[in-house]
Amino acid sequence: MENNIKILPLIPLRGITIFPYMVLHFDVGREKSILALEEAMLKDQEIFLVSQKDAKVEEPIEEDIFTIGSICNIKQILKLPGDTVRVLVEGVSRARISNYIQLEPFFKAEIELLEDEEVVINKESEALVRSMRKSFDEYIKLSGNIPAEILVSIEDVENPGRLADVISSYLMLKGEKKQELLEAYDVSERLEKLIVMINNEVDILKIERKIGVKVKNKVDKSQKEYYLREQLKAIQEELGEDDEDKKEIARYKSRITKAKLPKVVKEKALYELDRLKNSGSYSAEGGVIRSYLDWILDLPWNNETKDNLDVKKAREVLEEEHYGLEDVKDRIIEYLAVRKMSNSLKGPIICLVGPPGVGKTSIARSIAKALNRNFVRMSLGGVRDEAEIRGHRKTYVGAIPGRIIYGMKQAKSKNPLFLLDEIDKMSNDFRGDPADALLEVLDSEQNSTFRDHYLELDFDLSKALFVTTANSLETIPRPLLDRMEIIEVSGYTYEEKFHIAKNHLIPKQLKEHNIEKDIITFADNSIYNVIENYTRESGVRSLERKLATLLRKAIAEMVEKDKKNINITSNHVKKYLGPAIYTFEKADREDKIGVVTGMAWTGYGGDTLPVEVTVMPGNGKLELTGQLGDVMKESARAGYSYVRANAEKYGINPEFHKDKDIHIHVPEGAVPKDGPSAGVTMITALVSALSNRKVRHNVAMTGEITLTGRVLPIGGLKEKTLAAYRAGIDTIIIPKENEKDMLKIPKTIKSKLTFILADKIDIVLEMALL
Ligand code: ADP
Repeated sequence: MENNIKILPLIPLRGITIFPYMVLHFDVGREKSILALEEAMLKDQEIFLVSQKDAKVEEPIEEDIFTIGSICNIKQILKLPGDTVRVLVEGVSRARISNYIQLEPFFKAEIELLEDEEVVINKESEALVRSMRKSFDEYIKLSGNIPAEILVSIEDVENPGRLADVISSYLMLKGEKKQELLEAYDVSERLEKLIVMINNEVDILKIERKIGVKVKNKVDKSQKEYYLREQLKAIQEELGEDDEDKKEIARYKSRITKAKLPKVVKEKALYELDRLKNSGSYSAEGGVIRSYLDWILDLPWNNETKDNLDVKKAREVLEEEHYGLEDVKDRIIEYLAVRKMSNSLKGPIICLVGPPGVGKTSIARSIAKALNRNFVRMSLGGVRDEAEIRGHRKTYVGAIPGRIIYGMKQAKSKNPLFLLDEIDKMSNDFRGDPADALLEVLDSEQNSTFRDHYLELDFDLSKALFVTTANSLETIPRPLLDRMEIIEVSGYTYEEKFHIAKNHLIPKQLKEHNIEKDIITFADNSIYNVIENYTRESGVRSLERKLATLLRKAIAEMVEKDKKNINITSNHVKKYLGPAIYTFEKADREDKIGVVTGMAWTGYGGDTLPVEVTVMPGNGKLELTGQLGDVMKESARAGYSYVRANAEKYGINPEFHKDKDIHIHVPEGAVPKDGPSAGVTMITALVSALSNRKVRHNVAMTGEITLTGRVLPIGGLKEKTLAAYRAGIDTIIIPKENEKDMLKIPKTIKSKLTFILADKIDIVLEMALL
């Protein structure tokens, strides 16, 4: 055992364990250790390296040092600055201190070599080795900081003890664990211990990785964004765009300070600007913020135009641009006059109701001009989503404010005349009722703090003057109707149309075509011709279009034929517009049985409504055909019942229903008609047909009927009268209660017609039947 014992200088290691076959660098600083090194170098460069139990102990004594360590060969010594020396050593063999020979000036001890015993290769040892390799393999994969080449380098190592030592040297283990492995000089014990330790480490690594992935995922996303932003910033800086950003922020800042914003709005704007600064201008968020800021800055929070309170001037403007429409004009003048007296008056919300083309939109424009207010118009036709009025929330992709705010932006002042066109054409669906939002807009109690979903700021609408238009009141929701002041604008007579054409439409068209007043002129009869034979409407829209066509054709003729001027006559009209489109359906020229002229009122104005009844043998069936709405069908049935109940009174066989069928027909007209006002017409036709009495051909009638024969009032008297007049009627039977409405009928027409006021059906029948 002689050569099993060696006397060697000893260095205690701090925090390092050295295994046989391991090559290692370490720095030596302690004087005692340096002396030991020098001693070793003087001899055969062998040294005993053994770990300290506690790395922190500066001056270890025997008890502080483990007994088992490694005998090493010193390969290289490098003097570092200061008193430190870097040593490269290679482990040679496990060994144990059996006896300290000296403690000063350096440790020297008697060392006993602990060489591995020869391992018998059997299945058990083979299994241990394989299991160890496998575990180590997994360990390397998981740990990620040991180069995979090591696996190749240990492939050739066959000696199990040696293999264990090599592997041990690569493991990241705590000092005490390593020491435990070093002290396992029985090879099988060493292998088992090692396998347990590696597996343990593998488990820990797996858990670490799991946690790592989770944490990493969280961190990754924000880090990635941050990283990309930084990169973008760098690129922008390179391209000099960072400056652009700063300039943009500065621009917004100055716009915000310059704009006369209310305090809350300004704060919000600055807050958003701050967010813009941080979000980076190329991010999606940056885009959203920018358009939001633009909206805020473009709205007239505090801009107001100064109202014209000069009543005379306002009247002039209104008269100049529109013929008639007295109710509307008067209402505006009243409003102005009251405004002048008390400044605080809230504007009325006017609803102009009437057929298309009667000038509702254009008078609204004139009102704006007369009051010196900006004008905006928004059509509500087809609006069915609350968000269209009140906007989408900002979180919604592509959100924008609603139409009200949009209109205010266009208006550029907070007190414009805001025209809400076609308020009767709104509908609603599952997305919420736009009428609800509109209620708030039109409510003077609430609209000073109107809140758009997108803006999320209160906007004051109370200074705006709202005017709405509708063709009919029936489809306007009741609560909305209650907020508005209804002004009816009815259709025009031929004479009125003539005046409008001559004084307004023609001059307007001439101006639009850039033609001097006396170059192209219109003969009066040509204008009448167009009105009577080429248009059929309550308003003047298609009249205006026809006049424009005439003008264009005349211009073309002048250019082609080198004429200096043209006076458009009826001949020209025929040449330019073709043959007459409408030959007015004149009422029957002779008295007939079962044929009565009623009068109807539709969204397009008044019209005549002929009703025909025939009686034939049968068994009491009542047939209804033609253009009848549900209400009209009902009034036909009511009429039928009335006639059956009162048959005798009118000389009709009360048993007529037993052997006669009755057929009521309402010939199709251009426009669908419905309503209860055909009641009197139905009864008159029925009585005429059943009693064989002729109906006077020059009479037209209108009125709702009850089962007891009372005549109830109807709407649209003026329109109906105009239509009857156009159809060549000279006597008109109307409900007595409509007497007050006769004021609205133009005098020229009134003087040419005979009006009969009826409160009972008997009066109607007496006047109409021969
Ligand atoms: P509405 O809004 O009632 O459908 P518009 O305002 O569009 O009708 O009118 C159609 C055209 O007829 C416009 O060019 C308008 O100037 C003209 N107009 C209608 N009524 C008059 C009127 N009373 N005086 C002058 N022009 C009129």
